[in-house]
Amino acid sequence: VEETLVLVKPDGVARNLTGEILRRIEAKGYSLVDVKLVQAERSLLTQHYAEHEGKPFFGPLVEFMESGPIVAFRVAGNRVIEGFRSLAGTTDPSTAAPGTIRGDLGRDWGVAVQQNLVHGSDSPESAARELALWFD
Ligand code: ATP
Repeated sequence: VEETLVLVKPDGVARNLTGEILRRIEAKGYSLVDVKLVQAERSLLTQHYAEHEGKPFFGPLVEFMESGPIVAFRVAGNRVIEGFRSLAGTTDPSTAAPGTIRGDLGRDWGVAVQQNLVHGSDSPESAARELALWFD
């Protein structure tokens, strides 16, 4: 069975949305395999976001991800990598579709750039790489 890494970012944890996000994952039929609450170190975040190094939003993104605890979920299910990304919705919450995590719960990026509640691995290769980073 396929596995993915889901992160509830610091905005999601601070807004007490961890349970609501997990509820949506479980309601879809995916299974929680492992979970941890992490205050992420810079080295973990720069590895996690290595593909974005050099982009203008990289520094602010890492700072935001360091700003408070993150909840990491290891989630299993049939086609869960693609499936979770469709549950999450598009990157910018202000245009994410209703019914998605970001569309229903996300803040307008005009006032809260970087803050879009969740991360989900985008391919089998990134899921394997990211699960190894966050869960050893
Ligand atoms: P994720 O990988 O976190 O699930 P994603 O695949 O929708 O999100 P990416 O393009 O991989 O988005 O960007 C990773 C993260 O970087 C986004 O979730 C967001 O927090 C931040 N980000 C991306 N683009 C921008 C931008 N233009 N301005 C500010 N932050 C951004």
